[in-house]
Amino acid sequence: MPAGVIGASPVAYRGRFAPSPTGPLHFGSLVSAVGSYLDARAQRGEWLLRIEDVDAPRTVPGAADGIQRTLEAFGFEWDGEVAVQSHRHDLYHAALVRLQLDGLVYPCACSRSEIAAATTATARSIDGGLLYPGTCRNGLGDGQAARAWRLRVPDREFCLVDRVQGKVRQNLARDVGDFVLFRADGLYAYQLAVVVDDAVQGVNAVVRGVDLLDSTPRQMWLQECLGFPTPSYAHLPVAVNAAGEKLSKQTRAAPVEVGAGSEVLADALSFLGHAVPAEVRGAPLADFWRWAIDHWTMARVPAVRAIFPGQ
Ligand code: GLU
Repeated sequence: MPAGVIGASPVAYRGRFAPSPTGPLHFGSLVSAVGSYLDARAQRGEWLLRIEDVDAPRTVPGAADGIQRTLEAFGFEWDGEVAVQSHRHDLYHAALVRLQLDGLVYPCACSRSEIAAATTATARSIDGGLLYPGTCRNGLGDGQAARAWRLRVPDREFCLVDRVQGKVRQNLARDVGDFVLFRADGLYAYQLAVVVDDAVQGVNAVVRGVDLLDSTPRQMWLQECLGFPTPSYAHLPVAVNAAGEKLSKQTRAAPVEVGAGSEVLADALSFLGHAVPAEVRGAPLADFWRWAIDHWTMARVPAVRAIFPGQ
């Protein structure tokens, strides 16, 4: 069945929430859940839940269940089965083989220190890492073994019109370099998994945190290489702490309380630029969601990258 089609009727909108189970759900991830959910439901679309545990070393046992239970307690309702990346390796493998057959990826033997030695001090990628100098682009040297597989990137500007952040331009060769799809530790990279999953699941609208905006041109190139359509993108501001750091497990963001009720959802919605009336804040969950779905407008979401909640 073609992606985006259920039975005979095409699905106009299919979105998703794709948390990484690296810890309990915190306010920052709740904001992405609320924004993606409301955008889907306001357009009578579908909303899928996908557990992004492809990065096994970062996965915390029990976190996926905890996130699912927390979402349920807040009254989120997802469509269909929950997709779990660690059960979908065959799909990532098939995509990688396709890219290998098309000569779009190449094996790379470089270690981190070799890359550091071969690159100039100023050659930084947009993520702040080292820009890959292309050492293995034209083949491995004698006796060298592949550690990873990299995707060749073109020296061309990608332009994305994000529904929140507006026009974004990026040249992959200059800003990112050939990037890894299959890692030296034997794992598929997030970039490959997310592109394959969104396409296979027929997701046509991505609403997520702005921390992934810089990854989007990489994902658009990968979609092009694999012949997949490009979804629409909306990158929401992320919540930061007083020091300007994104709320995450690393910055010890407090988990949202399971069953905290609609006040916390109202805080997430206010964070996304929607003034929530007093009678809705604290209302039973079903009433809160009804009001929120009726009033959701992406145009109200502030076109900024970071917000310190309560500022
Ligand atoms: N798993 C990613 C995260 O939790 C989100 C990926 C995405 O939405 O594309 O940050």
